[in-house]
This record gives sequence, C-alpha cells and structure tokens, in this order.
Amino acid sequence: MKIPKTLKEMPLTPLSLPTIGSMGKTGTWRTFRPIIDYSKCTKCTLCWIYCPDAAITRRDDDSPEIDYEYCKGCGICANECPVKAIAMKREEE
Ligand code: SF4
Ligand code: SF4
Repeated sequence: MKIPKTLKEMPLTPLSLPTIGSMGKTGTWRTFRPIIDYSKCTKCTLCWIYCPDAAITRRDDDSPEIDYEYCKGCGICANECPVKAIAMKREEE
C-alpha cells in the first residue's frame, strides 16, 4: 500500500479500525449528540482522524460530516477539536 504523504492523498474513508458498522448501529447507545458549528470549523480533519467509530466522514472540501446512525456520543471529537467547533448536546435537547 502506498503511504499517503499529504492530506489530499489520504482516502476519504478512515484508515483506522474498527470500520463503520462492525459493532452494529452504535448510534442507539448515544446520550449526547455532537453538533458541528461549521462557522468555527477550520477543516483540520482531527475529529475525522480521532473518531473511534469511523462515524465521521470527510467531504470533498475536507469538512467533517457525522453519521448519527453510528456515532455513539463518546465526545472524543469534541474534546480533540482545537477550535471547539463541536458541542455535545443531550439527545433530548
Ligand atoms: S462523539 Fe464524535 S468521536 Fe464519538 S463516536 Fe460520535 S462522532 Fe465519533
Ligand atoms: S476537529 Fe474541529 S475544526 Fe477540525 S475538522 Fe473537526 S470540527 Fe472542524
């Protein structure tokens, strides 16, 4: 496998395991829901890299998109976001 040298060379699907769906629809586990404020997002892709459920995809312009069927609300993305563009909100809010 050719090792990507730039972000643009990295595939849009995550490199890490587990892959989407390997533990079922983990979105049903969620108590808190991450909400991205796109006006703050710098498209650094850190949330996409850190999400342990591969529930964040990278759009063509590198902005992140959360798949709520698989996001289990762990909050890692919100914790790692350097500009605090992700807020964790209670599901019932
Ligand atoms: S809260 Fe963030 S890091 Fe955790 S599963 Fe959902 S999208 Fe991934
Ligand atoms: S970590 Fe924050 S700034 Fe970086 S892409 Fe994700 S939401 Fe945007």
